Amino acid sequence: MSGSSRVPTIDHFILGARTCGTSERFQEVTNPATGIVTGRVALANRSDVDMAVAAAQQAFEKWADVPPIRRARVLFKFLELLNQQKDELARLITLEHGKVFTDAQGEVARGIDILEFACGIPQLLKGDFTDQVSTGIDNWTLRQPLGVVAGITPFNFPVMVPMWMFPVAIAAGNSFILKPSPTDPTPSLFIAELLRQAGLPDGVFSVIQGDKEAVDALIEHPGVKAISFVGSTPIANYIYERGAHFGKRVQALGGAKNHLVVMPDADIEKTVDALIGAAYGSAGERCMAISVAVLVGEVADAIMPLLVERTRTLKVLDGMNLAAEMGPIVTAAARDRIEGYIEQGVEEGATLLVDGRGFNGDAAGPDCAGGYWLGGTLFDHVTPNMRIYQEEIFGPVLGCLRVKDFAEAVKLINAHEFGNGVSCFTRDGNVAREFSRRIEVGMVGINVPIPVPMAWHGFGGWKRSLFGDTHAYGEEGVRFYTKQKSVMQRWPESIAKGAEFVMPTAK
Ligand code: NAD
Repeated sequence: MSGSSRVPTIDHFILGARTCGTSERFQEVTNPATGIVTGRVALANRSDVDMAVAAAQQAFEKWADVPPIRRARVLFKFLELLNQQKDELARLITLEHGKVFTDAQGEVARGIDILEFACGIPQLLKGDFTDQVSTGIDNWTLRQPLGVVAGITPFNFPVMVPMWMFPVAIAAGNSFILKPSPTDPTPSLFIAELLRQAGLPDGVFSVIQGDKEAVDALIEHPGVKAISFVGSTPIANYIYERGAHFGKRVQALGGAKNHLVVMPDADIEKTVDALIGAAYGSAGERCMAISVAVLVGEVADAIMPLLVERTRTLKVLDGMNLAAEMGPIVTAAARDRIEGYIEQGVEEGATLLVDGRGFNGDAAGPDCAGGYWLGGTLFDHVTPNMRIYQEEIFGPVLGCLRVKDFAEAVKLINAHEFGNGVSCFTRDGNVAREFSRRIEVGMVGINVPIPVPMAWHGFGGWKRSLFGDTHAYGEEGVRFYTKQKSVMQRWPESIAKGAEFVMPTAK
């Protein structure tokens, strides 16, 4: 890793301009493919957060009063700019995250889906009206924005996950403060600049770079009304508890261990394609990655040789190389953690069929020798008591478990602490139906390995994969970022004379 004295500073975005505020701490940002330091990101302190919240509060008062259709028009303009710049944004993702460029393009595209959904905000905010709830009285409900809301996001989707949040929050009339991961912070500033160009008033969208100090300051700040968090389960749990303590509305999406069940009647070749893509795409650093294959009955013997072959021949290359199927791991620390799990799996007695350790970075492209490389890794004979089964590894490691039948597969998955995504590959409609109904997981795929719901359906896991009541985006997102108000109205002409002392009822 080279020194960081002459690399650009990645700062905050407050009141429509980039600033380092009063930050005194900085963290190096690297290109994971090369290990070269490409920037230093400012880490906000409390006064930086205070400044951003004050700006957001001021902006909120006017923004909340802008008619929804005019708010939507700003987002339409942002959509147009984003569509023009989407490849540049994808490139920025690859340079700091490492995922392959085409996957980064897919990430931006899935973010754009949510933005398009949010452009329909006038329809989504339409309230309910009841004429004549009592003689001469009407009652209606409307939804109003909360105020300043904050989003705290993980490294693995530096564009898509913030876009699960801010398009809906802003469209609904809130001001939004994004606290992205300090590992890949640059795309957040690119987005902020495009929003500014689209005509979003200063202060409606801010970026605070930072770590725990910034997060704690946001949670504790009385001016912040709601927190959306996406990241690992221990931090999600912490944010949920702390947020509740400070009286905030919180949705906190956590980690995962996603299973893919292979039934004996599944199409083997297509299932292998699905498993390889879902386990090793983005180097397994997706909350919807498949990390466990549950092989039912005799299917294991048919599928294992194909999985071994495909894992061994994965094209692990610099993400900017269009031939790449998998890029590097995000940081050296993450790679070391994943290697530790591989060692753990061997010690626990799982069969290591393909070992990704010791991958030579030189083979990934020019200047890649110092990058954070790991090849695809495949275990067979994993059992439920092993840590490599119980814990989220968050890397390109696929563990295969063998079970005797469908019922055992369902029982196994339902006993796991996580419940984010799950998939079942089968040709049997009844198995598919029973699986979807009985499985205790928030997002289910039938012959779909990564069932990330579309923008208008909402995203969220169950159990320790989500703390809070509402899923991200979709109509659940609109509900999260608004509060309901009920208005009951009559006019003096319809008021009967005389004070009423009994509970009002319909007359
Ligand atoms: P992380 O939990 O380390 O960090 C997430 C965010 O929390 C970052 O902004 C980080 O700066 C902040 N943070 C980290 N430590 C903190 C602390 N002690 N106190 C307060 N804030 C803290 O997660 P990550 O490594 O960036 O991302 C990977 C994790 O995110 C995986 O567990 C993955 O499953 C999960 N994830 C979940 C979903 C989902 O929808 N459920 C989606 C994407 C990622």
